[in-house]
Amino acid sequence: MLGAVAGAAGAMAASEAVKWITQKRVAGGGRGLSMGTLFSLHLLYMDTHAIQVARNPHCPVCGDRPHVRV
Ligand SMILES: [Zn+2]
Repeated sequence: MLGAVAGAAGAMAASEAVKWITQKRVAGGGRGLSMGTLFSLHLLYMDTHAIQVARNPHCPVCGDRPHVRV
């Protein structure tokens, strides 16, 4: 992986975090990823995809009865 790819992905993740923390109270409102969305970024082809992923109720982190703490 090129360092630039990690930098781009990190900048996008940080942008999403700021929007989530401020609840999009930024100029223009913006548009963020919703919960349950997996976003993939292919910088080699300048291609992106957003895929909806169903929540797993048995997930040890975010399921109905979580038992792994992060
Ligand atoms: Zn989970």
